[in-house]
Amino acid sequence: MAFLKILANVGLLFTVVTTLPIDGDSGNNSIATINYRLPDNVVPVHYNIELIPYIVENNFTFDGKSYITIEICRATRDLSLHMLDLMINETATSLVDSDTVIYTPIAHNYDNETEILTLPFDDELSIGIYNLTIQYVGILNNDLYGFFRTSYVNENGNKVWLAASHFEPTWARRAFPCWDEPALKATFNISIKHHRNYTAVSNMPILDQSDDEDDTMWTHFDTTPLMSTYLVAFVVSDYVQIPNEDKTLNMWCRSALARHSKFAQEIALKAREILTRYTNTTVKVPKMDHLAVPQLTAGAMENWGLIIYNENNFAYNEKKDTRHQKMRVAITAAHEMAHQWFGNVVSPRWWSHVWLNEGFASFFEEYVIDEIFKDWRIMDFFVIETQQSALQIDIARNMKPITFEVNQRKEINSLFSDSSYGKAPAILRMLQHIVTPDVFRNGIIKYLHKQ
Ligand SMILES: [Zn+2]
Repeated sequence: MAFLKILANVGLLFTVVTTLPIDGDSGNNSIATINYRLPDNVVPVHYNIELIPYIVENNFTFDGKSYITIEICRATRDLSLHMLDLMINETATSLVDSDTVIYTPIAHNYDNETEILTLPFDDELSIGIYNLTIQYVGILNNDLYGFFRTSYVNENGNKVWLAASHFEPTWARRAFPCWDEPALKATFNISIKHHRNYTAVSNMPILDQSDDEDDTMWTHFDTTPLMSTYLVAFVVSDYVQIPNEDKTLNMWCRSALARHSKFAQEIALKAREILTRYTNTTVKVPKMDHLAVPQLTAGAMENWGLIIYNENNFAYNEKKDTRHQKMRVAITAAHEMAHQWFGNVVSPRWWSHVWLNEGFASFFEEYVIDEIFKDWRIMDFFVIETQQSALQIDIARNMKPITFEVNQRKEINSLFSDSSYGKAPAILRMLQHIVTPDVFRNGIIKYLHKQ
C-alpha cells in the first residue's frame, strides 16, 4: 500500500490503478472463518538470533535461540507469533519486562493451520517493552524453503553441502519464531556458529568473530536497518568471495563458477550507480553480497544486502553462453538491485499489494538495462516479451484483479504471477509518460527520502 503514495506523489490518478481490468470472480476466496493474521497488540522491535546449523549427513538440523524485544501496545494475557516446523524447548521460554520481572507462559498453544504459536500468561501484561527468549531446534530441510540444505559436486568429484535461506513470502518462521508479516518491520542481529572451513554471510557485514570449541567459530553480524522478516538471509558455505575494489559489492559462489561471476558483478555495479543517481538515495546497507546457490525456487531473491541467485541466473561464460543467457543474467542482477530500493526500503503493508514490489523492480530493471545496453532496445523487447504477454493473460475470464485478499500461503504465492511482474511495470511505464519522466522521478525521490 505504501507504494500507492508514490503514485499520489507523482500526481497520478488513483483511478488508473483502481480501473485495472477485473475479470472473473471477486478474488475473495479465503477461508473466511480462519484468521491467519496476527493480533495487533504486540509489535517486534529487535531480534537477536543465534543459529547453529549442523551441515552433516544424517543430522541436518539447527539449534536456534531468539531474543526478541517486543512492544506490547495494549494490555494482554497472551502473545501470538508465527513459527513452522520448529521444536520449542518450552522450559526455556521466558518474558522479561523493563523492571526485570520474569513471566513464564502457562502453555505453548500451536495452530497448525495458521502457523501461529500463542503463549498465554497468568498475569496481564501491561503496555511496555519486553524481552522474549525462545530456544528451539529446526530442520535444515531439502525443499529449498526456510533454512535449507543444498549441495554441489566440486572439482574433485566430492559432494559439498551448504546451508542457505529463502523466506519470501512466509518462510522466515521456519528458521526463527517471528512476527512474519511484511509490515511488522524490526532490526536484526544475526549470529551463526559454523565450522572454520566454512564462511557465514548475512544481510550485514561481520561485526566480529570468535573461536569456539572443536574447529568451530561464531560469526556475529552488524545490526540491520528496519526491515521485513522475509528479507532476512544467511548462508553458510565453503564459497569463494570475488570482491569489487572497495569490497562493497561481492560475488560469492563455488570456486568453479568464480570466473563466470564477473559479468553479473559489472551489471550490479552499474545498476547501483544508475539507481543511486535516479533515486538520489544510496543503498541503505553498507555492502551487497550476490551469492549463487545450486538450486532455488526463484530465479533470485532480493534479500537486503545478500541477494541469493539460482546459479542459472548468475553465471555467464562469454566463450560458451548464448546472448539469451547474457540477457538473463543482466536482467536478473538489475531486477534484484532495483529491489534494494523498491521492495526493501519501501515494502507493501500486506502481500495483496506485492505487485507494487514486483512492478517497480521490473520497471527499473528495464530502465537500468536500457541505460547500460542501448543497442539491446530493451524497451521495445519489453513491449513484446513482457507487456503483451501480461496483457494477454489478463483477458482470461478467470483472471483475478492484480490486488485481492490473500491469507493462506498458497493464496499469497499466487500473487507472484506474470501479471504482477508484467502488467504493473506496463502501467508504470504508461504513467511515466502521462505525467512526464521528470515528475515521475521527482515523486519517487520525494517518497524515498521520507523513508
Ligand atoms: Zn522481484
